[in-house]
Amino acid sequence: MKTIGLIGGMSWESTALYYRLLNEGIKKKLGKLHSAKIALVSVDFQEVEVLQHRGEWEQAGALLADAAQGVEAAGADFVLICTNTMHKVASRVQEAVTIPLLHLADATAKRIQSNGYETIGLLGTRFTMEEDFYRGRLTSQHGLEVIVPAAGDRELVHRVIYDELCQGKTDDGSRREYLRIIEQMHAEGAQGVIEGCTEIGMLVQQEHTSVPLFDTTTIHVEEAVELALMD
Ligand code: GLU
Repeated sequence: MKTIGLIGGMSWESTALYYRLLNEGIKKKLGKLHSAKIALVSVDFQEVEVLQHRGEWEQAGALLADAAQGVEAAGADFVLICTNTMHKVASRVQEAVTIPLLHLADATAKRIQSNGYETIGLLGTRFTMEEDFYRGRLTSQHGLEVIVPAAGDRELVHRVIYDELCQGKTDDGSRREYLRIIEQMHAEGAQGVIEGCTEIGMLVQQEHTSVPLFDTTTIHVEEAVELALMD
């Protein structure tokens, strides 16, 4: 079994999910007392959040590059950045190490296409919903048509991520708003919706809506388990 490298802490709420789901995934495949081999470097999200909102991506990239070198030194065979947003600095991270990066947007696009969908809604932070590193990549590298919420709703989705989900809070009112936005994107032609933030699965699950959901945390974990067990 390969060792899975995790760059986590963004937020630790979702990294805790990664840890549990990876172990459950390996146990499901191998049985007995098997568990995942994991090397984790967990950063202080407050430092990262300040850099994000100041637009200091060079420094944020350097911080994550250091973390990636840490997981490589700890024996990881490949590395995951456990947040969609920080894939903005994915190339900086990849350049810092010799092990491969399992890119979250690519894994998600692959899953959407294997379901035969071409038009997809996207929820995430403002960075993820608006910028080329994620929204643009789904289109330019994977040929997907991407629908995002209107500006006011993007603001709401972004605020709930930082003020509630990343602080471990799930609020029924916020869930209703997310479901309204998901229905709206579906009405605009989205065949499914990407939960493109690793905490959104804490708030909205498939049982809440008939619109097909693509939870990036689950997809990332499933791809990592498969890769860890590949010869
Ligand atoms: N975990 C979130 C994501 O997947 C947001 C936290 C962050 O800004 O990194 O984008």
